Amino acid sequence: MKKLEHIGIAVKNLEESEILFAKLLGTKSYKREAVESEGVITSFFLVGNVKIELLSATHPESPIAKFIEKKGEGIHHLAFEVEDIDGQIENKKAEGFELISKMPKDGADNKRIAFLHPKSTGGVLTEMCEEKKK
Ligand code: ZN
Repeated sequence: MKKLEHIGIAVKNLEESEILFAKLLGTKSYKREAVESEGVITSFFLVGNVKIELLSATHPESPIAKFIEKKGEGIHHLAFEVEDIDGQIENKKAEGFELISKMPKDGADNKRIAFLHPKSTGGVLTEMCEEKKK
């Protein structure tokens, strides 16, 4: 893993949470982006060189809606930047980590992403992400 890229936070109401986090962090959200395939709308803040990604569900079957149902609002995942995400997926599998999907998916913010299941990572949902090549 190269560096902590962002922290994902599950929220119920994106408008209200954007106001709360803008106040908390002292900076405004700089973009919103929908990820249709995941049923989420994201909103990004930049603090130093780490992003905070608010995640809100667009429908009740969204993984974010289910997370909030079970655990409530709060920290959802840590995302680490990697080089060669395809190779990293293979490495992590070989090391005994459980991948949620076998192939990288398109995420927000021009990234290819893959999640490691929290039951193999000490309870921390962990995302690996790599900037898409132009
Ligand atoms: Zn993320």
